[in-house]
Amino acid sequence: MKVKGYAVLEANKDLVSFDFERRELRSDDIALDISFAGICHSDIHQAREEWGPAIFPMVPGHEIAGIVSAVGSDVTKFAVGDRVGVGVFIDSCRKCQPCKDGLQQYCTDGMTGTYNGYERDGKTVAQGGYSNKFVINQDYAVQIPANLDLAGVAPLLCAGITLYSPLKNWNAGPGKKVGIIGLGGLGHMGAKFAAALGAHTTVFSHSPNKEADAKAMGAHDFIVTKDPEVLKTTPADFDLILNTVSADINIEDYLRLLKLDGTLVVIGLPGKPYSVSAPTLLNGRRSLAGSMIGGIPQLQEMLNFCGEHNIVSDVEVIEPSYINQAYERTVASDVKYRFVIEASKF
Ligand code: NAP
Ligand code: ZN
Ligand code: ZN
Repeated sequence: MKVKGYAVLEANKDLVSFDFERRELRSDDIALDISFAGICHSDIHQAREEWGPAIFPMVPGHEIAGIVSAVGSDVTKFAVGDRVGVGVFIDSCRKCQPCKDGLQQYCTDGMTGTYNGYERDGKTVAQGGYSNKFVINQDYAVQIPANLDLAGVAPLLCAGITLYSPLKNWNAGPGKKVGIIGLGGLGHMGAKFAAALGAHTTVFSHSPNKEADAKAMGAHDFIVTKDPEVLKTTPADFDLILNTVSADINIEDYLRLLKLDGTLVVIGLPGKPYSVSAPTLLNGRRSLAGSMIGGIPQLQEMLNFCGEHNIVSDVEVIEPSYINQAYERTVASDVKYRFVIEASKF
């Protein structure tokens, strides 16, 4: 199948228009016309090889919302015309315990990423969502509720689930105090979800101008961290803090803000190790944890939750020719709060 998209041809180079092919439908595949594709900071990390060697040409994009255009002969879960989402992985082994439990992102054999990796045949390079068409096995796609705007839905497929999953796992809700570090693509979904789940929600941001937006998203408190000294006088009463920052920050400053048995979850992937001192962990029996996106059942649960609560991402819709500027603005923390590419313009 002929596809039009945008690709990085070489690490650190600008993205350019790129024509390529995807497989024709297998019996259990669906094809979709992509409507919108979100720009995740992980796309930028990989295009710039900030996580190590990558595969080029690379068509990034793992926040995909579209409309089913064709279904294979054995497809039961989707019909032509359905609103469909695709996230960070397109396959997994299906046999290991995490896969059987619907936690495909933790597949012991490794999930098959939507791009910058090989499909399970070990030789086909997976190409992502900055394109106009997609093909995927029906078991790795999800249904999008009818009431949600597709542009605002695209970022839910990575940014949304990546914050929803730890909030659910660590029981964010009434009576809990939750902190979100960084009000970017991930963080703004964290603020919306934590507030919708009924938790007292605090946003930590190094951008003072984001306060009104954070409050409009449901945050109760907004703490400006431009001068990290402010964290020394912030009370240590948080049950849960989620770090979504894409850059290297001192997480020790935030570990100290956890109350007894509180948990700090690492979500941002700056590509450098964090440093933590033992006394800060021991004092208060604190936990340092990590969390990665979410499995297919939870992805569907999150979208249904969004449908019920009318939650979507705040987006800036752009044309493909703006992708390179969008990368620069994302790195500069200058996006409100996710760039989404209009895929019909590829
Ligand atoms: P983003 O939109 O660029 O947001 C990151 C936010 O971090 C910025 O908006 C900014 O918020 C804050 N920040 C950036 N530079 C900073 C600095 N130098 N000092 C302090 N704060 C800074 O990125 P994203 O798409 O949300 O992704 C965030 C991170 O999560 C990336 O590293 C990405 O790779 C990773 N990620 C992880 C998973 C997972 O499964 N764990 C999934 C997707 C993405 P303020 O302006 O409010 O300070
Ligand atoms: Zn992502
Ligand atoms: Zn598996």
